[in-house]
Amino acid sequence: MSSAPVCRACGLGPVALRGKKPGAFLRREFEFHACAACGFMQVEPFSGFAIYDDAYYRGAGPDPYVDYAAEYHDWRATDRGLEFADLVRIADERLRDQKTKRPKDQDPRISAGSVSLGPLAPRPLVHSAAPLRWLDFGCGAGGFLKFLRARGAIAGRPLELTGHDVGSYADLLRERDNFRILGLDALAREPDGSFDLISLIEVIEHLPEPLEALRLVGRLLKPGGLLLLTTGNLDSPAALQAGLAYRYCAPEIHVSLFNPRALTALYRRAGLDPIAVRYDGAVQFKVVKTLRHRPILRVLARAALCLPPIVRFIDRRYGVSAMPCAVKPGLKA
Ligand SMILES: [Zn+2]
Repeated sequence: MSSAPVCRACGLGPVALRGKKPGAFLRREFEFHACAACGFMQVEPFSGFAIYDDAYYRGAGPDPYVDYAAEYHDWRATDRGLEFADLVRIADERLRDQKTKRPKDQDPRISAGSVSLGPLAPRPLVHSAAPLRWLDFGCGAGGFLKFLRARGAIAGRPLELTGHDVGSYADLLRERDNFRILGLDALAREPDGSFDLISLIEVIEHLPEPLEALRLVGRLLKPGGLLLLTTGNLDSPAALQAGLAYRYCAPEIHVSLFNPRALTALYRRAGLDPIAVRYDGAVQFKVVKTLRHRPILRVLARAALCLPPIVRFIDRRYGVSAMPCAVKPGLKA
């Protein structure tokens, strides 16, 4: 007798068929299996990574909003800058927060007024100008790497960038743009604690084995390091209302579908602690990217999205800030 498959996010719950849906691109039926414990959904069968070909990169595949060519040639002309700036803001706030909190956290005697120079004394902030090593896992057309290169430094620390991806754009970024781009094997050979920051922007939903990726990320992060991860929220009001008809349920490509509970469980299994973040630009980007082919609406949307109550409304509707990021436990950043 075979037992029910176990959830790939929390590792606890049995998964059972929730429903079926034909692909919009591949004309076949896909099954959505949901975990009874955390609500994570996995799609069967997995279409394989061969679907990420040049047609996909042009937006002629299962995701019409993908445009690698435009992003590769000039990311500034795309709307992605909204999201990039938001992620950098979150990283910057966390780093500055750590800088100001560390002495007190490390040595409570400081607050009592007697500065100790013993082994528990806070390290002087000399090391704070050390380079900040940032890995963009799933760097795609490289827009975020280029944004970070243009930015140069965060919280006073110069950025040292690495990307991870495969395919023709990874080759271009390596050969033409001189980025350090590692394939999966090379990335797996990087020493423990190689990075201060790792970003996984809309990547995890594409992976049939998300735990493997998160365990690698957990190993590669320095203690105290930050993981910035974005993915759709299947427990958001918009998703619950639409059910499997929700646009994010694109079974050819989005094979691991999360909610805050499932993502939290996955972080814990990978040795990471979830942390709450509040997105602004990433929320704005979610709306304007869908208006890529409707220039007038796009301009109006960008104007409306300058109003914070509208951003918060959309954030709640799609559950963007309800999805946690994570840190690796430990003091050293
Ligand atoms: Zn589960």
